[in-house]
Amino acid sequence: MRALILDEGELRLDPDHPEPEVGPADALVHVRRASVCATDLEILRGYGSLPGYRGVLGHEFVGELDDGRRVVADINIGCGACRVCASEGGRHCPARTTLGIRDRPGVFAERVAIPRANLIEVPDGLDDELAVFAEPLAAALHVLDEPCEGPTTVLGDGKLGLLIALALHAEGRAVELIGRHPTKLEIAAGVGVATLLEAELGDDPRPRAAMVVDATGSPGGLRRAMQLAWPRATIVLKTTTKQPAPIDLSPIVVHELRVVGSRCGDLRRAIAVLASGRLDPRALITARYPLAQATRALEHAGEPGSLATLIVP
Ligand SMILES: [Zn+2]
Ligand SMILES: [Zn+2]
Repeated sequence: MRALILDEGELRLDPDHPEPEVGPADALVHVRRASVCATDLEILRGYGSLPGYRGVLGHEFVGELDDGRRVVADINIGCGACRVCASEGGRHCPARTTLGIRDRPGVFAERVAIPRANLIEVPDGLDDELAVFAEPLAAALHVLDEPCEGPTTVLGDGKLGLLIALALHAEGRAVELIGRHPTKLEIAAGVGVATLLEAELGDDPRPRAAMVVDATGSPGGLRRAMQLAWPRATIVLKTTTKQPAPIDLSPIVVHELRVVGSRCGDLRRAIAVLASGRLDPRALITARYPLAQATRALEHAGEPGSLATLIVP
């Protein structure tokens, strides 16, 4: 089958990749749509905590089983036997594998084997190009798991920042999105989210939110978030970068800020929100490429202006 693989840091389309090994607990999934994530680009550059990934890239997808049912999947597969798996589930298992990220083939391929326990069925009538957002939307909705009384500011108008702003708005929260791209901010403004160009904040902005979400993807995001946070506010970090940021921690102490990391979320909740019609992220799709041109899709995804780049096997 065709697959986009990362081999010794080189990205290439393998036209004759071995078929997935389908274990006794797995289902064979035929990929219908996949989407390029900033994490894929980080892995290409040598993502800080996960250097040297080799194999099929990609973790955002909607696929189809042999019986015709469509599915999305929780991308983390825990060992199922350890203390962390018992209390937190597989998402934080130290021995976990992760589709296209850690020790397990990903979804930029015609087919992929995934444990059946990780699959979530996509309801009939939910468009593939909505369902393909289930994984990043689950990560966006996970922000709602942090308690917050008051307005939220989201920093970063990339795909994840936009999904977080749209998700919080759809769930009735007061949210503003701050970014650097008028055309991207326009997508959020179009559904009623307050937006602001970062340049308009100036160098020394006033605190403005009870929760600030850093989805900038930039090492400077946390510093900016601390400037915008009210005393005793929560800062939710969504950014992972290869470059560590030197940072003055004093504002966290002085203003008694709560800084929490946030990664993956519940795909069932994401599918339910997509099926409800409260949120339609299809305006984020900026390009579609056939799998044969997947290397071009990743290039495109790294260009300024691109949001969701889809791959269609
Ligand atoms: Zn992702
Ligand atoms: Zn485990």
